[in-house]
Amino acid sequence: MDKHQQSQKSKLFKPTHVDPYLAEMPGSSAHCPQCGAVYRQGRWSWQQTVPDDAKSHICPACRRIADNQPAGTLHLAGSYLEAHREEVLGLIHNTEAAEKAQHALERLIEVSEQQGGLRTTTTSRPVIANADCRPKNSYCP
Ligand SMILES: [Zn+2]
Repeated sequence: MDKHQQSQKSKLFKPTHVDPYLAEMPGSSAHCPQCGAVYRQGRWSWQQTVPDDAKSHICPACRRIADNQPAGTLHLAGSYLEAHREEVLGLIHNTEAAEKAQHALERLIEVSEQQGGLRTTTTSRPVIANADCRPKNSYCP
């Protein structure tokens, strides 16, 4: 396959994923009555002041949590988890706190026991990616 064919194939099979929770824009400014996040200039944040013209609008993260529709799921299992369960749980919660502090829509939905392991669901994929990497960085050579 030459470069032209590869380019055409890449365009043809390019995924067109649209997150329905992020597709709905609340207008110029909004305030989430559930978590307090503020929408302004196209993004949600933990801004302290709510603009006077902000309308009430439930943010995408709160809607995902209410609908129990995670954007990411992480399954952890194995002997390492059994030996370090509390430490791994601490890393998951610390990762979520750090991500949530910087990004209003990146949150943990639930951590549950499942099939001898842990099932973690989140409102966004970056939380999963960082939760997956940090234990490796902390414990693996
Ligand atoms: Zn919210």
